[in-house]
Amino acid sequence: MDVCFDPRLMEEAVFLALREPHRQCEARRYHASRERLYALEDMEKRERSFQELHVHAFGELKLEHPLAALLNEIPVLRRLGRLNVQAVGLHKEEGADLYDGAQGVTALLKLCPETLVAPDKLVRRMRPELEHLADMLDPGFQYDPQYELAGQTSAQENLIRDRFALLWDLRIEARLAVRGHATEPSHFRLRQRFEKLFGRSSAWSETFARIFDGNDLQRRTQGDLFHFAHEPGAWLRNLGLGDGAGFSNSRPCPVCGFPSTVWAPNPERLSHGAQEYLRTRLPQWSPEQGLCEQCEEMLTVVAR
Ligand SMILES: [Zn+2]
Repeated sequence: MDVCFDPRLMEEAVFLALREPHRQCEARRYHASRERLYALEDMEKRERSFQELHVHAFGELKLEHPLAALLNEIPVLRRLGRLNVQAVGLHKEEGADLYDGAQGVTALLKLCPETLVAPDKLVRRMRPELEHLADMLDPGFQYDPQYELAGQTSAQENLIRDRFALLWDLRIEARLAVRGHATEPSHFRLRQRFEKLFGRSSAWSETFARIFDGNDLQRRTQGDLFHFAHEPGAWLRNLGLGDGAGFSNSRPCPVCGFPSTVWAPNPERLSHGAQEYLRTRLPQWSPEQGLCEQCEEMLTVVAR
């Protein structure tokens, strides 16, 4: 696999790295070379020489090493023909994606220069991103970037998309945990997202632990994860976690299927739009069966 760093990223990474106190010698040498280049009158030649200087300094400071070590951890990434590494300005813009390039399957990794020069940060932020790439390349996961969502409204599609993204992150975190690479803060954040997206019940914590520790997600395809995101109840029953078994004081919500202890207080007073929506999706549902608060909230949005 060819790893190609974008010139802007190399330049900014060199600048940042040379600010570190233990690199004063290298910094002096670099700035002296830079000064000499300003004497060049031919602008084109000067620009080219600056670029060569950055490439040289980037190599000398071994700034590509931490990323190379991380790439080596994940053998399936060797299927990539090329990895383009590009600079972005914000942490939220960082990420990895695949596309078909001239040299076969190509990946684009976007990261901030500060991330590249801080090995701990690089590992923490980019390891999960590269694991996403690994799943995309794994034939067993059957990744399809054009996968069609099954939702009927945009609110429902957003929920399915968010749940799918969470389940994929969970799959990766569980895999990293097996290799001893999971971190406490990211585990905590995943639990919070799980609670928010799948429902608040006294049993959610147990459900989360069973799904996570059981490592069931590793055997699943992208389509399975979308199916679970769409119909969590069916998935939980499949795992033997549904129909209230093992959950004290909770029962599955007839609408989303997730075990819940927090119920909508007046299901018979749902708005007309919400009732209509439920009738088309779940003709067998009646207000006496109730629904969880999470579903009531979602329906309020959907029926607006
Ligand atoms: Zn529900």
